[in-house]
Amino acid sequence: MGRYLDAVPFSGIIRIRDMMYSVKDPFRLDQGDVSFEAPESVKEAMRRAIDDDKTHYLQTTGVPRLLELLAAKLRRQNCIPIDSPDEVMVTTGGIHGLYIVCQALLEPGDEVVVPDPEWPPCMGNIRSAQGVPVACPLHERLGWRPDLDELAAKITPRTRAIYINSPHNPTGGVLTRADIEAICALADRHGLWLISDEAYEDVLYDGVEHVSAASLGDLNSRTVSVFTFSKTYAMTGLRLGYVAVHDEKLRDRMKKVLFYTASNVTSIVQYGGIGALEGSQAPVEAFRRELQARRDLFYDGIRRRAAGVLSGTPPAGAFYAFLRIDPAWRPSEGSDASSRSWAMTEYLISRGRIGCVPGVDFGANGEDYVRFCFARDRKELEGALESLEDVFRER
Ligand code: PMP
Repeated sequence: MGRYLDAVPFSGIIRIRDMMYSVKDPFRLDQGDVSFEAPESVKEAMRRAIDDDKTHYLQTTGVPRLLELLAAKLRRQNCIPIDSPDEVMVTTGGIHGLYIVCQALLEPGDEVVVPDPEWPPCMGNIRSAQGVPVACPLHERLGWRPDLDELAAKITPRTRAIYINSPHNPTGGVLTRADIEAICALADRHGLWLISDEAYEDVLYDGVEHVSAASLGDLNSRTVSVFTFSKTYAMTGLRLGYVAVHDEKLRDRMKKVLFYTASNVTSIVQYGGIGALEGSQAPVEAFRRELQARRDLFYDGIRRRAAGVLSGTPPAGAFYAFLRIDPAWRPSEGSDASSRSWAMTEYLISRGRIGCVPGVDFGANGEDYVRFCFARDRKELEGALESLEDVFRER
């Protein structure tokens, strides 16, 4: 039995989901899901695939037309020099892409430098491959970016890779081109791999640019880029992602993990992905614009209605508000929460029906913050803000 798996934690997000089921009329700002529906081009392509009986086994790494479209997208949009569609692999969402990379890349005890805070499945996937995540703090004062000297100091003889995630979950921080160049140079100098999680590549505000690490310099051969359709095309439940890998040896290993965990990704969903890429890209921009409006609505509400108990600066990307808890705030008497961010989360769920996630669930450096997802529809956001005002007024 894989006893080491007993030490791999489940994310607190699952505990919160269970807590939310006991709440009547909840505001689900805990879940990292958009309220939009997938574009008609996706649904139409899936309907057609069903009618055309596309229900059989497919090529392990993806149906050729989808791989071709993805290679073209990666070249055009991400400026990644993809030599052939063989360098692309379709996965069951970004989480599966990350799982495959970790299994194929890591030996037991290999260290991977990860941001703190970070989306918990990043650490979970590293641990599931018997690797060791090494936390490197992100700093609110730097717009939730790392201090590059501090990052360099995390590298040891056991380090195998650096994981970056921009735009970032949970903080919305975005790495600059100069940051990514410096991180690539650092990885190159130490012979490390770079895992670049670009799940939120299309969710950027105020004209901020997305830079794909694999588009820069010489490290391309040791960069693995992880992408998903979940956020860009509002396809979270359909489970479609992809990875771009130049190195042939790593790719062969990854293909084995992909085959033994999925055989191939669901046929109908892959045709949905073809529909997404062949169809109009207008929904992507429409989602982005609406998310920017929701971000502004939510932060304006926090400024006016959270009585200073929660505060933060609107993020440049992704769709989360990672808000600081006022140091003067005290948990209610009788609270047996294990930390302040858990106490705040339990308080907001029980008193205000507002789902959120404690910052500490994303890493020790996230303690004293809570995460809200502002990708919910405006009505739900306004309801949550109203409830928040009531809760803090009652105190
Ligand atoms: N990376 C990050 C940072 C994420 O936040 C997510 C989803 N929440 C993913 C990857 C993967 O998403 P999915 O598995 O739905 O493609």
